[in-house]
Amino acid sequence: MQMDYTAEREKIVNKLAQKVKGEKFDHSLGVEQTALALARRYGADREKAGLAGLLHDYTKQMDNVAMAEKYGIPYLTEKTLHGHTAAALLKEKGYVTDEEVLGAIRWHTTGRAGMSLLEKIVFIADYVEPNRDFPGVELARELAFADIDKAVLLVLKTTIGHVVKNKGLIDTDSVEAYNDYRRLFPGEEI
Ligand code: FE
Ligand code: FE
Repeated sequence: MQMDYTAEREKIVNKLAQKVKGEKFDHSLGVEQTALALARRYGADREKAGLAGLLHDYTKQMDNVAMAEKYGIPYLTEKTLHGHTAAALLKEKGYVTDEEVLGAIRWHTTGRAGMSLLEKIVFIADYVEPNRDFPGVELARELAFADIDKAVLLVLKTTIGHVVKNKGLIDTDSVEAYNDYRRLFPGEEI
């Protein structure tokens, strides 16, 4: 049975603390809080938002390449793997069985075209949670609560820009996501 966010939050947090240490643990709690706030703002399921927010980085500090092999997950770069491995592991353990929650965890790093509301909420919460501090975070935070689709576009544009600047490989799911959300706001100053 899937872990019950409201009834078992403490147990879930304890499990998380065994796998996710230091700043990443604080970050997970921050994503949980921001996901709950965004769920309230946009009328999404708070149980699902809280659970996905808490557990989205569950495998971040594990051997993701080994897990990708185990679960048969194809990948372009190691960096974007942990959402996919977290969804696979949490599903296998039976901690999370809800496909919407699994989707929000799976796509939190890259995004994808046609994201569900819950997927957008976790994607954005990951970027603007209270521990995040970088130039432009205030604007992203405001936009997150004003128009989540615009916030998604801003985050995709910024993260893809960083990857290009650092001469990395751009995940194709992110490219498809960018095109999908840019299409909604052609020519807009985002
Ligand atoms: Fe992550
Ligand atoms: Fe994260």
